[in-house]
Amino acid sequence: MSQAPADAAARRAVAPVICYPNDTLPVPDLALYAAAREGAEKIAEVVVLPREAACFRVGAGEFFRISSVEGPQVGDLNLWNADDLTERFYSGKTRALHGTHVTRGERLWSSFPHLRAMATIVADTLEWYGIDDFGGSVHDVIGTRCDPYTGNLLSGVQYHHCCHSNLTRAVAEELGVSLTEAEGHVHDVLNVFMCTGFTRDTGQYFMKASPVRPGDYLEFFAEIDLLGALSACPGGDCSAEHTSDSAACYPLMVEVFRPVAGALRGWQSPARNGYDRSHGR
Ligand SMILES: [Zn+2]
Repeated sequence: MSQAPADAAARRAVAPVICYPNDTLPVPDLALYAAAREGAEKIAEVVVLPREAACFRVGAGEFFRISSVEGPQVGDLNLWNADDLTERFYSGKTRALHGTHVTRGERLWSSFPHLRAMATIVADTLEWYGIDDFGGSVHDVIGTRCDPYTGNLLSGVQYHHCCHSNLTRAVAEELGVSLTEAEGHVHDVLNVFMCTGFTRDTGQYFMKASPVRPGDYLEFFAEIDLLGALSACPGGDCSAEHTSDSAACYPLMVEVFRPVAGALRGWQSPARNGYDRSHGR
């Protein structure tokens, strides 16, 4: 243990500043999105089976809703630009811009060099939850995705239905590529409905039973053409563990809605990031 300096208390007392004040981010026109959603027609539905994953596609200007249908269940979401899989959801930058958990009005941002909004959250029935007394909240961008490598590292188990593996299999099937190639596309997720935080005393990542119930949903507006993959986590509501078949697990539903023509007048799919990297990075 290192020795505290004489002015330790003064150094600790320095007030924090926000790393990325986000009041200059482009503001989504939620009223326009809501109006467009009013008359939107459901065009697709995908049911994600427990301890499996499924892919879905959403066009720019369409909506997709992830719903709890049979019991408390969390989902691990990956998103890609449907036309360029190198542009994918960047959970770390989304966290830096919006905080540890996301909700209505916040956006999912894409990887470098694109760094633009891929999707905007337009509805969240768990918005009421806020931040609980443990520092927990829902829909986190602080976890990764449960994976078999960490399970093996910590427990020596060989488990094949972690979200990482489920997403890999779903992507391989969707794209018609090998599992090895598909695995390279899988990335850190938005943990939909998962209730998580960091312990105050040790700073460790924690989870607790999700407050989600059948009928709850998280809904997004697709800012660009998207390929999505969603895994129904083997942890179920993630109240206990997630790298085994011991938790009760339920399906999740993804629905896609298309607004009527002209309903999004004035909206434009965001351009790729304007930073000119020819001058150095
Ligand atoms: Zn998982």
